[in-house]
Amino acid sequence: MSTNFEFIDIKRIDPDTKPLEVRKANFGEIYEPQTHDDIAAQSSRCLDCGNPYCEWKCPLHNFIPDWLKLANEGKYEEAADLCHQTNSFPEICGRICPQDKLCEGACTLNTGFEAVTIGQIEKHITDTAINMGWKPKRYVEKFGKKHVSIIGAGPAGLACAENLIRRGVKCTVYDKNPEIGGLLTYGIPEFKLEKSIVLKRREMLEELGVKFVLNTEVDTKKVAEIDKKSDAIFLGLGTYESIKGKIEGTNKTGVVEALPYLIKNTEYLMDPDDAEKIDFKDHRVAVLGGGDTAMDCVRTAVRQQAKSVTCIYRRDQENMPGSIREIKHAMEEGVDFLFNTQPLKVEGNGSITSLKVCETKLGKPDASGRQRPELIEGSEKAIEVDKLVIAFGYQADVPDFVLDKNVKISDTGLVELNNNKFNYQTSNPKYFAGGDMIIGSSLAVHAIAHGRDAAKEIIKFIG
Ligand SMILES: Cc1cc2nc3c(=O)[nH]c(=O)nc-3n(C[C@H](O)[C@H](O)[C@H](O)COP(=O)(O)OP(=O)(O)OC[C@H]3O[C@@H](n4cnc5c(N)ncnc54)[C@H](O)[C@@H]3O)c2cc1C
Ligand code: SF4
Repeated sequence: MSTNFEFIDIKRIDPDTKPLEVRKANFGEIYEPQTHDDIAAQSSRCLDCGNPYCEWKCPLHNFIPDWLKLANEGKYEEAADLCHQTNSFPEICGRICPQDKLCEGACTLNTGFEAVTIGQIEKHITDTAINMGWKPKRYVEKFGKKHVSIIGAGPAGLACAENLIRRGVKCTVYDKNPEIGGLLTYGIPEFKLEKSIVLKRREMLEELGVKFVLNTEVDTKKVAEIDKKSDAIFLGLGTYESIKGKIEGTNKTGVVEALPYLIKNTEYLMDPDDAEKIDFKDHRVAVLGGGDTAMDCVRTAVRQQAKSVTCIYRRDQENMPGSIREIKHAMEEGVDFLFNTQPLKVEGNGSITSLKVCETKLGKPDASGRQRPELIEGSEKAIEVDKLVIAFGYQADVPDFVLDKNVKISDTGLVELNNNKFNYQTSNPKYFAGGDMIIGSSLAVHAIAHGRDAAKEIIKFIG
């Protein structure tokens, strides 16, 4: 029987990770599964506080203490039903959310007892229920007459589709890629999220009635065709224009951008006969940036058997924007970190041979409130590298067909929401939008929240 004091006797236990030599030699997920008993014990640590801060900090406001209790009782199918009331893809969030900055960061037990392993339990609930044959159900049996088109099969578009179809609204999702998932499939590497997880979701969405039209780039002509047969359209196109930074000589051979590097590697792993990879085997690799994308690049280079891998970041470790867990994994896997280091110039004759850098110290805060890195005069030096990955993040690049539809764009190039009558509605009333294309490069959980909430607004709009 629960006493609510289990957290004193039962310590937080994260799942074991595979041995380092196994991790570094293949791209599979790094965690070993936990047993039902482990999960029951870990979920019993929840205090069931009256005002659960974890729920408020979770962008989806998941009913966390309630599904922790069901997991503790071994009621996995009920727990999965409850998880899916707020989250279309709990097993994905359980794997890739930066929990330390979200739900677990807000857990009351953080005051000296270590947070409940919320993400791991969320993943375990859904994985277990799916293995038992559980599937998300439609809330209504019959479909209505209205039809919604969704452009972009990333987490925003997929969550919108899942929420519409379960409420009896027919929908079709268009994407230029051959597979669904957006960055879940083509950006985030297998060691964080195996592709079979996303493929399983495709199967379940199709079974619910979602239609996918893949390998289809939407342009002005195509959108006119889609517009004619749709009562509303949701745009979830992401943001893909990489930020270049002010570094001289990035046009040299051996310098690549993060996303093409990760995408090529994923495509190669998905189909080695049909894709070529950017291979860093035996190279000295440097990756510029301190976010999740940079961590994915350094850990990909480790698995490609690079000779050395260095992450170069202009602020200190405390100021790194990426998930603490992912930084720790990169360090365990042998990545060197050069903090307080600003890259200045790519050197070499045609191909990169070294990178000129300068040490920094943190100065006054900038407009965003973060301390600005300042160069330390006389601290310049060259680091020998022959491959360089630029992972500074992404900015908006809304395609022309969106502008042609009179959807307004903000000064920063993101899609501007009108929000007058319906949330997530753009300046063209028939067009709704969500995900990275309205807030800039962010997190999957935000995209899922936008897709979910936009679906509810679209239903009100189409009546
Ligand atoms: C390397 C990397 C690692 C990341 N790691 C994490 C992480 O660990 N945790 C986390 O929460 N988030 C992570 N993110 C962020 C997360 O992946 C994104 O915030 C999220 O995928 C955004 O979802 P979205 O649906 O808005 O866009 P996307 O996932 O970008 O999907 C947009 C879709 O639109 C399609 N599309 C675009 N234009 C067209 C067109 N004209 N016609 C047809 N289709 C089109 C694209 O093909 C794509 O499938 C990471 C991002 C990157 C790049
Ligand atoms: S969706 Fe993300 S933030 Fe919310 S409970 Fe799950 S892991 Fe935590």
